[in-house]
Amino acid sequence: RAHLERIKATDGAINAYITLCPEEALAAAAAADARIAEGRADLLTGIPIALKDIFLTEGVRTTCASKILDNFVAPYDGTAVARLKERGAVILGKLNMDEFAMGSSNENSAYGPVKNPWNLGTVPGGSSGGSAAAVAAGQAVATLGTDTGGSIRQPASHCGVVGLKPTYGRVSRYGVIAYASSLDQVGPLTRDVEDCAIMLQAVAGFDGADSTSVDLPVPDYRATLKDGIAGLKIGLPKEYFIEGLDPEVKKAVETAIAVCRNLGAEIVEVSLPHTDYALACYYLVATAEASSNLARYDGVRYGVRTESARGLSDLYSRSRAEGFGAEVKRRIMLGTYALSSGYYDAYYLKAQKVRTLIRQDFLDAFAQVDLLLTPVAPTAAFPIGEKTADPLQMYLSDIFTIPVNLAGTCALSLPCGFTAEGLPIGLQLIGKPFDEATILRAAWAFE
Ligand code: GLN
Repeated sequence: RAHLERIKATDGAINAYITLCPEEALAAAAAADARIAEGRADLLTGIPIALKDIFLTEGVRTTCASKILDNFVAPYDGTAVARLKERGAVILGKLNMDEFAMGSSNENSAYGPVKNPWNLGTVPGGSSGGSAAAVAAGQAVATLGTDTGGSIRQPASHCGVVGLKPTYGRVSRYGVIAYASSLDQVGPLTRDVEDCAIMLQAVAGFDGADSTSVDLPVPDYRATLKDGIAGLKIGLPKEYFIEGLDPEVKKAVETAIAVCRNLGAEIVEVSLPHTDYALACYYLVATAEASSNLARYDGVRYGVRTESARGLSDLYSRSRAEGFGAEVKRRIMLGTYALSSGYYDAYYLKAQKVRTLIRQDFLDAFAQVDLLLTPVAPTAAFPIGEKTADPLQMYLSDIFTIPVNLAGTCALSLPCGFTAEGLPIGLQLIGKPFDEATILRAAWAFE
């Protein structure tokens, strides 16, 4: 009830929620009370949680912040959502995002932009902007987001919360609307590192319904959380401390590095030599996969259908023209081009080869260090509208987060300071594949 009140009082200004589920939430809360009374409480019993509107939720509208899914009610719960519910979580509602998770500022939503709770004139980051803003504003204890190129970590950084992108394969994507299937991963956004460990614990682990899910044991993340960072070897990739990095961000990250040293970590410089190619590589791979994934929205099987069609192909094209927003159309055009005959080898295949080099950079670095430390984004949250006219500028917001998705490894975003204007700054800790435990442990040491 306290969270529903808080949402009522603040969401007119923030716009973090697309759909609220007050009756379902109160019923789930009552069931959680009963469960606790019976001594059957689990990890999340009674904890109010909200979900990015990319997660299928049985009987609840799931829009992906697109007009084309405005009327779509999901017929089943995805695996991560089902796992939260099994553990007794209370689902408050569905959160705003960039349409189909394409964006870095939450300005690409058919349901209006999300405002950053720290300063309503600035963006919360994206694409999981609603997931980050809701946690920052006390509208949910924790949320789930997805991260294809930074969409959990960058908004977590801009909203001063903790966000974790697990290793590709760690959390099932079954029942998560696909953007770029070889990059998408599910993860939590929380107020602190321990909550983050708890949320990961709740959703991680093998799922036969997702063919990319990896069958590895899930460690007890809280068991090692407080072991400290003394003796850990932390690498600073020199390509991430470049010109273009905002001086205030640089200063906050350098302070964090000094804290690591004081806590007994060993700091060394490393190199990820193919970093320069990551952004171009990502925008080929991601758009190619998106154009294929989004072919299913045809106005026939589900979602919104145009009312003015003359014949079948007209129905397809008008439904898509009316249903998709400008950024989604741009991505479909780019991706279709990169996959078309004659260009496939020159663009898509080449990007896949570059991707392998980028992944190898990380594996080489991890042969020398336990984890990497970098900024999350080149700047703190920027004013609403500042980058909407210039997609390339917008794409640069993810320059430090994208390589991690291409490499398929895990990374966490953690608050590490504020700008003079009072906007949060984030620190990124990048871990070895499937070694979420070490980055959680290092992050906890800062708290
Ligand atoms: N901003 C990046 C993009 O627009 C990443 C988005 C994401 O991680 N979903 O593709």
